[in-house]
Amino acid sequence: MRLPPFDLHAPETLEEATALLERYGEDAAVYCGGTELLLLMKLGFAQPAHLVDVKGIAELAGLEARDGGLVVGAAVTHRELERSPLVVGRWPALAEMERGVANLRVRAAGTLGGNLCFSDPHSDPATFLLAADAVCVCRRGGGEARRVPLEEFVRGPYQTALAPGELLVSVEVPDAPPAAGVAHAKLSFHERPAATATCLVRLEAGRIAEARVAVGSVGARPVRAREAERLLAGLDAASPDLAAVEAAGEAAAVAARCTEDANGFVEYKENLVRVLCRRTLGRALARSMLTAPR
Ligand SMILES: Cc1cc2nc3c(=O)[nH]c(=O)nc-3n(C[C@H](O)[C@H](O)[C@H](O)COP(=O)(O)OP(=O)(O)OC[C@H]3O[C@@H](n4cnc5c(N)ncnc54)[C@H](O)[C@@H]3O)c2cc1C
Repeated sequence: MRLPPFDLHAPETLEEATALLERYGEDAAVYCGGTELLLLMKLGFAQPAHLVDVKGIAELAGLEARDGGLVVGAAVTHRELERSPLVVGRWPALAEMERGVANLRVRAAGTLGGNLCFSDPHSDPATFLLAADAVCVCRRGGGEARRVPLEEFVRGPYQTALAPGELLVSVEVPDAPPAAGVAHAKLSFHERPAATATCLVRLEAGRIAEARVAVGSVGARPVRAREAERLLAGLDAASPDLAAVEAAGEAAAVAARCTEDANGFVEYKENLVRVLCRRTLGRALARSMLTAPR
């Protein structure tokens, strides 16, 4: 497999990047870590003559705590997220999820922005960030930034809400509520996850006051399982009603809109969703009970 020839551009500002994307139109592609794009080019699925490398744009770099959450630059790698003391201290479940993405080589080059913008349906961060109520900050050249909730940003396989010439600049991840427990789980047969689930529960007086359940990698896009969340709300955290937990798993399996592919049949994937929902709920509850005031 050989890479076709291309010109590499290294803009230092968003304005320069947008100008390049406008000048070269369909002949140009945004390039960040390259773990997806270069593979597509080697396989002959894409042949952009101009790659616009966005890693040198300051706005897309760095990680900081701001306004009650984290702001993660789109060009931040999975490895940076996994190792950042800020993330480990403030969003340990996010660091843990990132540790499970791909392999060390991919994590060292691949970025959060590249993962979300490629919008491969088999994504860990997309599922996790959906449960975290994350918001994608998008901007085109000198224009106003658009804040798009992750739920609207990921539209389907290889489709996002990005407009032509627009870049994903950063991802805002609000802090988890106090006394919340969060857990992410996945199952992989090949390199990419075949099923992913993230559960967040917040307790009040020993009961689930809020539940968020996101499932992905089994259908066209990750989804929030709202009916499952409704069924879990109010359950006793120490000994939840097992019939309600089972019903929540069932509701999540329906919400996931599983599709058949090389990872399995629809019924099989629905079962994976049920299992991962139970597993993440159990772990999230255990974590929340450790932090909840008694
Ligand atoms: C072997 C392997 C295993 C993997 N396993 C997993 C896994 O277990 N879980 C998982 O979630 N993922 C997995 N992945 C996917 C991996 O997370 C992504 O490849 C990586 O995050 C993509 O980031 P990148 O910077 O390399 O993107 P690139 O390849 O540079 O870009 C990907 C796409 O996004 C566009 N793009 C990139 N950045 C921006 C931006 N800021 N604004 C607008 N468009 C942009 C590019 O134009 C391109 O279309 C795996 C990938 C490989 C190759």
